Amino acid sequence: LAVAALAELRRIVGEDGLLTDVPRSFLQDAAGAVGVEARADAVVLPSDPEQVAAVVRWCAENRLPVTPRGGGTGLTGGAVPVEGGVVLGLERMRRLRRLDPLQWRMEVDAGMSTGDVQRLARENGLVFPPDPGAAEESQIGGNVATNAGGPHAFKYGVTGAWVTGLEVVLPSGELVRLGGTVRKDAAGYDLKRLMIGSEGTLGVITGVALRLLPAPLARSAAVAFYADAEACQEGLEAAFASGVVAAALDFVDGRTLEIVASTYPGSVPPGVGCGLMVEADGHTVGEHADAEAALLESIGEGAIQVDRHTPVDPLWRWRDTFTGAVAARRGLKLSEDVAVPVDRFATTVEAVVEIAARHGLEGCSWGHAGDGNLHASFLIEPGHRDQLSRAEAAAAELFGRVIELDGSVSGEHGIGSLKRAHYLRHADPAVLELQRQVKRAIDPLGLMNPQKVF
Ligand SMILES: Cc1cc2nc3c(=O)[nH]c(=O)nc-3n(C[C@H](O)[C@H](O)[C@H](O)COP(=O)(O)OP(=O)(O)OC[C@H]3O[C@@H](n4cnc5c(N)ncnc54)[C@H](O)[C@@H]3O)c2cc1C
Repeated sequence: LAVAALAELRRIVGEDGLLTDVPRSFLQDAAGAVGVEARADAVVLPSDPEQVAAVVRWCAENRLPVTPRGGGTGLTGGAVPVEGGVVLGLERMRRLRRLDPLQWRMEVDAGMSTGDVQRLARENGLVFPPDPGAAEESQIGGNVATNAGGPHAFKYGVTGAWVTGLEVVLPSGELVRLGGTVRKDAAGYDLKRLMIGSEGTLGVITGVALRLLPAPLARSAAVAFYADAEACQEGLEAAFASGVVAAALDFVDGRTLEIVASTYPGSVPPGVGCGLMVEADGHTVGEHADAEAALLESIGEGAIQVDRHTPVDPLWRWRDTFTGAVAARRGLKLSEDVAVPVDRFATTVEAVVEIAARHGLEGCSWGHAGDGNLHASFLIEPGHRDQLSRAEAAAAELFGRVIELDGSVSGEHGIGSLKRAHYLRHADPAVLELQRQVKRAIDPLGLMNPQKVF
């Protein structure tokens, strides 16, 4: 960028808010070595919504692309500035704007970390249920932009279910409020829903109004170990049939279990091919006890062993280690995030291993069984281009299989730039065109996070 242009950006965000020597960390995301890396003209770090609006307006006037960036924990290259221009980071916007514990609601700057949102709720006897895995690094604005999920989305829904209002800077630089703190709002199109999951392609989210819930009084978890994915599917369906909504219903396949068994807070029995992690909660002791009893009985059908975990935190901490441990097995992994109807869960778990083997790779999966959402991983060694190509071919085949099963190429991580080709291949052309029309209406210059999603 020319010196005069940089001076104008500096005038908006101040000396500290402009990085012209762009650190590499702003040019990639958590996909890392299997992701994309790009270049940018500058990074701007505004301190308030007015600065965001001024930067976006300036970029529109100067026809420069803008890439909104939260915590950079995305796994699809969504926050990577693939067309250069300006990276707009929200990290200096972390304020609590308002917290009303008695009305179960809060409003925060979009740059507040997910972990801080969860802590603020907890300290006030409440809970913000969405729990994506990188909560200490990700931002609430990034969670809204990707409509992030997590284990507790099974009972409580993904991030978007908790958003009552958004403050957004549109690609023109105009600052608007969509929704607010009302719990119901049927006036006009629900444009905040359009922003949720739009991956930074329709505007920059600067503020988020959230509803919260009184924290459950009691929680406990159990792990049921089964001989194979089919038996696990039966346990899963029995949990549904019990009529009790588990707080979480996650799974881990046999290959992943081999890698993480040594750190399990208990002992994994021999001959296990799949595990189901179930959490029961309740707002009264009685409600919890009833839920726990029904779930334990149902997942016990056909299980080799059922372990109870009270307290639950060590089990979920173990769960959080899977991604790192699986990547460490060979040095790298190519991970996908497919979703299928729940009755096709076991078929898909088996398909991951079978497809990987046909491409000469080790494949495994874990994830949110209750939502039919699998984190399917293909293990590869760093520096082996051929293995990466085979993993990419395996992933492409898996996407095809998932679509045949009426599934989706992404359950929670989004499309970004990495999954774009797969999404374009499988999406209905009429639906793609409708999305392009929406994009053109809101971002006629096509400058807001270009080349993402479709
Ligand atoms: C270890 C690990 C575990 C994970 N576990 C989960 C999980 O359980 N569930 C899950 O859903 N995801 C998970 N993820 C993926 C990731 O954490 C989520 O996608 C998260 O919501 C991204 O938030 P972020 O703030 O880091 O966004 P970024 O990575 O910075 O950006 C992601 C996308 O959102 C856009 N964006 C970010 N902030 C804004 C904003 N303020 N306004 C407009 N657009 C914006 C970006 O342009 C980009 O397209 C995990 C990632 C890691 C590394």
